[in-house]
Amino acid sequence: MTTKLFYEDPYRTQFETTVLKQEEDKQGLYAVLQETAFYPTGGGQPHDTGTLSGVKVTDVEEVDGEIRHYIEEPLQGDTVEGSVDWERRFDHMQQHSGQHIVSAVFHDTFNLPTTSFHLGKETVTIDLDAEELSDEVLQQAEDKVQEIIMKGLPIEPEWMSVEKAGDYPLRKPLSVEGDVRLVIIPEVDYSGCGGTHPASTSEVLAVKFLGWTKNKKQVRLEFVCGHRVLKELGAKHQVLGDVKRLVSRPEPEVADEIEQLLTAGKEKEKRIRDLEEKLLTYEARELAAEALGGQVIQHVFENRPMKDLQALGKAIVEQKRDSYVILVSEQDEQLQFILAHGQELDRNMNEVAKEVMPLIDGKGGGKPDFVQGGGRNVIDAVTFADHVKNAL
Ligand SMILES: [Zn+2]
Repeated sequence: MTTKLFYEDPYRTQFETTVLKQEEDKQGLYAVLQETAFYPTGGGQPHDTGTLSGVKVTDVEEVDGEIRHYIEEPLQGDTVEGSVDWERRFDHMQQHSGQHIVSAVFHDTFNLPTTSFHLGKETVTIDLDAEELSDEVLQQAEDKVQEIIMKGLPIEPEWMSVEKAGDYPLRKPLSVEGDVRLVIIPEVDYSGCGGTHPASTSEVLAVKFLGWTKNKKQVRLEFVCGHRVLKELGAKHQVLGDVKRLVSRPEPEVADEIEQLLTAGKEKEKRIRDLEEKLLTYEARELAAEALGGQVIQHVFENRPMKDLQALGKAIVEQKRDSYVILVSEQDEQLQFILAHGQELDRNMNEVAKEVMPLIDGKGGGKPDFVQGGGRNVIDAVTFADHVKNAL
């Protein structure tokens, strides 16, 4: 069995050792070593990465009791020099210890046990057996967590028998037999845990809660620890900086300013809609004025949306109750049209449409006095409108 150097010294990143074997499984080529400082995926903590004599280690997994280092190419020679990516490992150590402290605080201060833990690429989440978390509880918990971090308490992993572990105030009963590894933060936390941790809570640096969501009758709390707090602050600062440039207001006023801008924008949109409607009425009046009583009002547009044709058609037949209206719009490869007539006339425009639609491979229909449709512009809009007129 491989000696786990990451338990002897979690700060160790360089080591020299013998290659026991190199084989391939479903995941790819892997090496098993006499000793390793590479932490394999487990207990919620992601695996380490790094190199073995310059060959990249992309994944480390414990399979059937052996630690498999998945490598990009075969290793040369019987011994290798291992090098663990410290930035990634230490980040995991900060997140993992931070999680222990956060879980301990929610349990001890608010009687909320943690039911699961996920150490993600960007953030950490824990599920708490709670309906919700008030701002007050969050603030109190965050303060308490920071207090523990600042105290610089030792974080001491210790192997012991399950019986001896039972003497400690464990939150979760241990589900293993034989020896167990307890990670102890005196008077704060006693957890059965196989992860890597820094020597002191002060190395966790800081914990910042980012928010919570409901998750299957529980609460999922998201947070970051250690350097991720600075990274998060940097990212947020960048976004806020961009926003501030746009609204040129001091930070505390930014949200109010944006709200005012949005409200003003909505009011403007409404005014524009009202004006457009008015404009359509005038346009309809103009079109109606062109026709004498009982005549056909026909007009061809370019790139006019269907809702404009509908509104115009409606407005014209209201003004000219004894006229037919043919409005056609040409856009891209399409023709769209409306056919309508005023109340004083009695003709089923569906029949007219049925007759002319084959000319443009069209589809459409509607009420006897108001039909809409569209098709391809295989003939031009004016010709199509003339065909409609002849069909009337
Ligand atoms: Zn743990």
